[in-house]
Amino acid sequence: MYHELPRTARLWSFLRAVDQELAEETRKGGCPCGGRLHSANYPRKPRGTPIQLPEEECLRLSFCCDRDGCRKRSTPPSVRFLGPKVYLGAIVILISAMRQGPSPRRVRELSRRFGAHRRTIARWQVFWREHFPQTPFWKIKRADFVPVVEIGSLAYSLVDTFLLRHRTCRGWSLLLRFLSPITVPGALQIEVSR
Ligand SMILES: [Zn+2]
Repeated sequence: MYHELPRTARLWSFLRAVDQELAEETRKGGCPCGGRLHSANYPRKPRGTPIQLPEEECLRLSFCCDRDGCRKRSTPPSVRFLGPKVYLGAIVILISAMRQGPSPRRVRELSRRFGAHRRTIARWQVFWREHFPQTPFWKIKRADFVPVVEIGSLAYSLVDTFLLRHRTCRGWSLLLRFLSPITVPGALQIEVSR
């Protein structure tokens, strides 16, 4: 099913379209102070893509309140920039999923294609195995998954679940949207139990 993923250039415009929808939802919501949100994008270099991206593709969509005395920044969720990780969200999920899945050869192909080093992939593995399950986001959302998703193969199970339920492109779109709340700055903080 993974080879049905759109090719890189198409994948990129697909992801950008999802980001624009997410940004529009944030903009419509306005600032908590009641002010209006104006565009205040900032540059961020995504990795995990072999193609030279035009400058406007490297912008993290973001907004600022237009009221004097507030000027608070609102950054919408993103399917292209996964939290503190600069790699494309989709690629992080995909490669992690495939590491846990049945096809190591495909993983090697993907790592080569997206220029991800073995060590980087190992860090993503730690993220899915140890970090992600502890997030408040997952603690709430895991109840939506029946049967219970195996923590040991979390990325793989998520991809599997979404792609089995929906056609490929729609499945990816829904999965990335599902995960997008964790891309907002601060959202990946772990609750420390005392
Ligand atoms: Zn404001």
